[in-house]
Amino acid sequence: MFLLFSLITSLSTFSQDFLYVSSHQLNLRDRPSSSSTILGTYPRGTKVEVFSIENGWAVVRINMRLGYMQHQHLVSCIPSSITSLINSNEEEIVYICVSNTAHRYHNKMCPGLGNCTHRIDTVLISEAIFLGKTPCGHCY
Ligand SMILES: [Zn+2]
Repeated sequence: MFLLFSLITSLSTFSQDFLYVSSHQLNLRDRPSSSSTILGTYPRGTKVEVFSIENGWAVVRINMRLGYMQHQHLVSCIPSSITSLINSNEEEIVYICVSNTAHRYHNKMCPGLGNCTHRIDTVLISEAIFLGKTPCGHCY
């Protein structure tokens, strides 16, 4: 941890950035590995100070605590529409293809999901929107 801190303080010219946790929960780890020690678990929407990103892992600081988080679960902004959707109890379940190249969400197992070469998952509609997905043209 001392080495990590030294690295961060030496990066004086690096412009730090703030990202938000986009998954339900995200672990803060002491090394850039999913088998390393978990330093803490943070819920969706947690604001994270990001110093650098390497091999899919972001060097982050949360409440003065330093560690690593998986970059794929961090997003740059929370759309304002999400807050109201999260608070709504009329949450709709939608289907998404868990792929970086899939940008649609579906209201059923529609033909649009037939092209999915990844895992198909069900999420709340607010999560789908939060992940940057838009309604499918076939089923919506
Ligand atoms: Zn569809």
